[in-house]
Amino acid sequence: MSEKELTTHQNLHFDELWAYDPAPESPDYVSIEPQYQLFIDGTFQKPESGRYIDTVNPSNEKVLAQVAEAGKKDVDKAVTAARKAYEGVWSKLPAKERGKYLFRIARLLQERAREFAIVESMDSGKPIRESRDIDIPQVIAHFFYHAGWADKLEYAFPGVRPKPHGVAGQIIPWNFPLLMAAWKIAPALAAGNTVVIKPAETTPLTALKLAELIRDAGLPPGVVNIITGAGQTGVDIVNHPGIDKLAFTGSTEVGKIIQKAVAGTDKKYTLELGGKAANIIFDDAPVEQAVEGIVNGIFFNQGHVCCAGSRLLVQEGVAEELVYKLKLRMETLIVGDPLDKNTDIGAINSKVQLDRILGFLTEGVEGDQKIYQTKCNLPEKGYWCQPTLVENVSQSHRIVQEEVFGPVLTIQTFRTPDEAVNLANNSPYGLSGGIWTDKGSKIFNVGKRIRAGVVWANTFNKFDPTSPFGGYKESGMGREGGIHGLLPYLELS
Ligand code: NAP
Ligand code: MG
Repeated sequence: MSEKELTTHQNLHFDELWAYDPAPESPDYVSIEPQYQLFIDGTFQKPESGRYIDTVNPSNEKVLAQVAEAGKKDVDKAVTAARKAYEGVWSKLPAKERGKYLFRIARLLQERAREFAIVESMDSGKPIRESRDIDIPQVIAHFFYHAGWADKLEYAFPGVRPKPHGVAGQIIPWNFPLLMAAWKIAPALAAGNTVVIKPAETTPLTALKLAELIRDAGLPPGVVNIITGAGQTGVDIVNHPGIDKLAFTGSTEVGKIIQKAVAGTDKKYTLELGGKAANIIFDDAPVEQAVEGIVNGIFFNQGHVCCAGSRLLVQEGVAEELVYKLKLRMETLIVGDPLDKNTDIGAINSKVQLDRILGFLTEGVEGDQKIYQTKCNLPEKGYWCQPTLVENVSQSHRIVQEEVFGPVLTIQTFRTPDEAVNLANNSPYGLSGGIWTDKGSKIFNVGKRIRAGVVWANTFNKFDPTSPFGGYKESGMGREGGIHGLLPYLELS
C-alpha cells in the first residue's frame, strides 16, 4: 500500500476507532510541597548553599515545586552523615535486621504505590500506565528482592567473606527516576553500605517522597541521604574523598568524565551508560508480534530508555509488510496527557531533551533520509514528539550511530544473519538487543554473537530484579540486578 493510500486508510478508520474519551488519573490524591529540603542524617535540612531549583511538569510547563540545590558543603554533610551511620550503626547491625528495613520500605511503597505513580508521571512526563504498571511495581520488586539477600550474602558468594565498601555515592538520570533510585539504594543497603544519592535535576520528586518514606520506615539516620541538585552536585559527589564506591547511570559523556575523575583513587565504581540497540526481525518472525515488540522497544517511555530498540534491522523479504503494519500500528498510538490512562506516549522530559531530539530530525537528516511521523495532534503546552520513523538510512548516518533518546526509530534491511550481526555490532554502544524469529537455533546462534549486555528473544524491554543488566563498550561497566549487581557493593576476601 502506498503512503497516500495508507493516509486515506487512517483517515477513514483510525480517527474514529481510537477516539477514546479522556480517563485522567486525579492528581488531587497526592500532596506536593511547594519547597523541598535535603534529606541528610534522617531529617530534611535547608541547603547551606541557600539555592533552590524548580522542577516542572513537562506536559504543561507548570512549576511543581522548588527543590534544594546541594552545594559542596551539603555534599560533605551528607557524606559525613553516611560515614557516621556506617561506622556507628549500619555495619554493626545483624544482616537480618538490614533485611527487615528493606522489607519495610518495600511494603510501605506497596501501600503508597498509586501516589508514587502519579507523582512520577507529573514530574517526568511518562504515561501513568507505565509508572503504575512498570516503574513502581519494579521498584517494589527490587526492594523485596534485595531484602531477601541481606542475610544470605555468604550463600551468594560461597567460600569468601563478603564485606561492604562503606559509603556509596550514587548519581541517577531522569528517565526512570524512582526505579533507578531503587536499583541503586536496594543493593547498596542489602550489602551493608550507606548511601548518598542524587536524583536528576528534572525529576527529583519521587526520590524526595522516598526520603519521607525511608524516614517513616525508621531507618537509622544517615543510612540513606538523598540530596537534590544539578550536574555540579554530581561532580561534588564524585570528587568527595569520603566516597568508597560510586554508582552512576547516565550519559556516556558524563560517564567518561567520572572515569577520569576516579582514575588514581581507590574508589570502586560502576557505570551504566547509553545505548543504541538493534532490534533484528528475521523473515520467519511472527510479524504482528514483532510490531508490538518494536513499538514497545522504542516508543515506550517516549524512547527515554537506554536499552531502547532504536535501530530496527529487518530481513529484506519481510521488510515491506512489516513497515506497512508498523506504520498502521503507530497511527493508533495516543500521545498526550501523561495522567490519562489511555496515553501511550507522554511528554518529553525537558525542553533541553526535546531540542536534542528535534535537532536530530532537522540538522541530523542526511542524504535521502525519509522521516515518517504519525498524524496525531500534539497539545499546545508542554514538550512533545510524535512517534517517528527514519527510513533510507545507512550505517554511517549520525542518527544510526548516536543515541537520540526519544521516540525515533531508524530502519535498515539485511539479507543474511551475518549481515544482521555486523550491522548490530557496528556501534560504539553495547547495552541491549532484540531478535525476532521462529527458530530457537537462530536465537542462540545470533544472540551469542551480539555484543550487548542483554539480548531479548521474541520480546523487548523486559526487566526483573534477578537478572543482571549492563553494557559492553561505551555502554558502561559493571552490572546491576541479580547476584552480579550485588558484587560491586561488596569486597570479597
Ligand atoms: P546525564 O546528563 O549523564 O545525567 C545523569 C546524572 O548525572 C544526572 O543526575 C546529572 O545531574 C548528573 N550529572 C551531570 N553532569 C555530571 C557530572 N559532570 N558529574 C557527575 N554527575 C553529573 O544523563 P541524562 O541526560 O540525565 O540521562 C540520559 C542518559 O542516561 C542517556 O544517555 C541514557 O542512555 C543513560 N541511561 C543509562 C541507563 C543504563 O542503565 N545504562 C539507564 C538510564 C539512562 P542533572 O540531571 O541534575 O544535571
Ligand atoms: Mg520535572
